[in-house]
Amino acid sequence: MAYNYEAIVPFLLDWFDYNARILAWRENPKPYYVWVSEIMLQQTRVEAVKGYFDRFITALPDINALAEAEEDRLLKLWEGLGYYNRVRNLQKAAQVVVYEYKGELPPDYEKLLQLPGIGFYTAGAIASIAFQIPVPAVDGNVLRVMKRIAGSFDDITKENIKKELWKDILQVIPRDRPGDFNQSLMELGATVCIPNGRPLCEQCPVMHLCKAFHNDTMLLIPVKPAKKERRREERTILLFEYQDKYAIRKRAAKGLLAGLWELPGFEKKLNVQELMKLLNEWGVTADTVTSLGEAKHIFSHVEWHMIGYHVIITDAIRELTQKEEFVWANRQEISQKYSIPNAFSAFTAEIKEYKVKF
Ligand code: SF4
Repeated sequence: MAYNYEAIVPFLLDWFDYNARILAWRENPKPYYVWVSEIMLQQTRVEAVKGYFDRFITALPDINALAEAEEDRLLKLWEGLGYYNRVRNLQKAAQVVVYEYKGELPPDYEKLLQLPGIGFYTAGAIASIAFQIPVPAVDGNVLRVMKRIAGSFDDITKENIKKELWKDILQVIPRDRPGDFNQSLMELGATVCIPNGRPLCEQCPVMHLCKAFHNDTMLLIPVKPAKKERRREERTILLFEYQDKYAIRKRAAKGLLAGLWELPGFEKKLNVQELMKLLNEWGVTADTVTSLGEAKHIFSHVEWHMIGYHVIITDAIRELTQKEEFVWANRQEISQKYSIPNAFSAFTAEIKEYKVKF
């Protein structure tokens, strides 16, 4: 029999009143702020998002500014958060909002759902937190918390299970505090009923109502099928330097890290001899070649296992630039203008010494 969540509502609201973390987008839950924060929080922890959020809102204070921002500036503001499609969709949606809703997010759950990059969870979060519309906001955190409370072994990756939970929450969501209720679930999932390792049940306001706690099944719930193994790719990354400038190039418009700037490289790991041979074939004379060591970067479906070299070159710059479509940028330009994703951070750290200004 389905669990009746009604009893947990007052305990969660009371707990939230005293335990909610102070966050800029909570202190001032303007629809735009809630929206930007929710998009940033997908795949990224609250602590990491705080700085990015402040910087983003300072640079682009409203939806009109977001809609009009140049792509490179937008990507630079997102640099480090990853999953860049999120910010591209954010801008596409902002353009629709400017065009169709005069620059203000519509206070309507169904209309929010129509906007690019806004799914059930984000529409529910914006509608409930910014507009006090009583709709659920069900994400992985909420699924974990609710399935533990219910002691349920349902597979939470199944769409019908998500929809059922959405409907169950809709039955009990308090009409006077829908945003606080949704946030109390998110907050409990982030700080108490945590995903990896043992949840902190002794601090939980609904421990006495939680079936997983009573049955000691907290670590068995939520149930998810085993993930497919990630594809492993080997790469060589080259930090080409010529007269205090570094070679970068734009990635293809589609696929992984689409349209972002990268350090040039090859899809295999080269040792020094192989690298020297290749430079020779290109007609490039290297003044020095220094190893930058190895690094790994994990994407959702693929892992990059990389080796890096710092290659200071003295000639053949024109040929190289034409052949490989390089842009040569100095440290300041790389820090302030070009967005190079985190995947390359092991090899860009030493050239990103300028503080970013917008
Ligand atoms: Fe999660 Fe433990 Fe609270 Fe149950 S009692 S909701 S398992 S923290």
